[in-house]
Amino acid sequence: MLAGRMNNLTPYVPGEQPQDGVYIKLNTNENPYPPTPRIKEFLSGMDIARLKLYPEPTSKLLREAIAEAEGLSPEKVFIGNGSDEVLSFVFFGFFDGANGPLQFPEFTYSFYPVYSQFYDIPYTKVSLRDDFSIDINDFASTGTTGIILPNPNAPTGIGLPLADIRKLLEKTDRDRLVAVDEAYIAFGGETAVPLIEEFDNLLVIRTFSKSSSLAGLRLGYALGNEKLVNALTTVKDSFNSYPVDFMAQKCGELAVRDIEYGRDVIQKIIATRERFVGEAAKLGWYILPSSANFVFARKDGISGKEIYTKLKERKILVRFFDKAGISDFVRITIGTDTEMDSLLAAMKML
Ligand code: PMP
Repeated sequence: MLAGRMNNLTPYVPGEQPQDGVYIKLNTNENPYPPTPRIKEFLSGMDIARLKLYPEPTSKLLREAIAEAEGLSPEKVFIGNGSDEVLSFVFFGFFDGANGPLQFPEFTYSFYPVYSQFYDIPYTKVSLRDDFSIDINDFASTGTTGIILPNPNAPTGIGLPLADIRKLLEKTDRDRLVAVDEAYIAFGGETAVPLIEEFDNLLVIRTFSKSSSLAGLRLGYALGNEKLVNALTTVKDSFNSYPVDFMAQKCGELAVRDIEYGRDVIQKIIATRERFVGEAAKLGWYILPSSANFVFARKDGISGKEIYTKLKERKILVRFFDKAGISDFVRITIGTDTEMDSLLAAMKML
């Protein structure tokens, strides 16, 4: 076997992406609705000759659009090729393990341990309460290299109130980064963005994949103090100075500026989620309270893997996690009303 670092890696395994289109796809938290029609208009009229040139390296116009939407200055916005890339830069740039381990919740986004291994960062998992909520009192305030947590958490979907994020920041050493991964914040969570002015060690990471229906475009961003954004830019420019292409920059800008369309899509998904949760409860399913575009659900007497397998036979894809403590659950993305009705019909058969 060839020698090399790759021999020691355990890569992240994303949910299935079947290309034949026969499945109702509720396994990777994509948005069931298309992105703003302004993108179609732009792409169909696009000057293809523009692709001869490199993209604008600082994603200036996109950063300005996001800054305006968030009430921040563009210097507080960093853009990356999907939030996974932004997260990778965050792990590399801020979590060096020198002062102790990185802390993240026990059940959380399963890419965090993968990045930790990739960059050789020791980590500790902070246990959740019995109801799967995060207790910020369980995070150590000192002797760590930093903290990362999603809000709402994934795969549970449970949101943390802003007051808890504030308490976490207040108790954490100011020279340690607190990274809040807000991939799903638009679906009912309380954002930590208002705390950015007060805490220069807070970084909020976001994505266009879920609320903006642009998972295929690969676009993510981070919001934080200028010093943090400059540090991320240094990491990016040491790795790939043009990670975000011309089309992604423009489409992202169009999505951010079409506030009304984005709001409508999110409202529809929230309404479908609440209806689905009610109907599933009537069928005897137990569902954790979700502030996201997915729910974490289980039913007595059947494992997550069995649910997954039986639904797949009926051409419905959900995600299960073969991990002690959550192996009874499946994570179900909220699709259209019609898709959720098909799922409910299949759930009745289980
Ligand atoms: N954070 C969390 C918590 C996620 O679930 C995901 C989606 N897998 C991401 C970040 C990454 O999203 P993307 O790279 O599509 O922006």
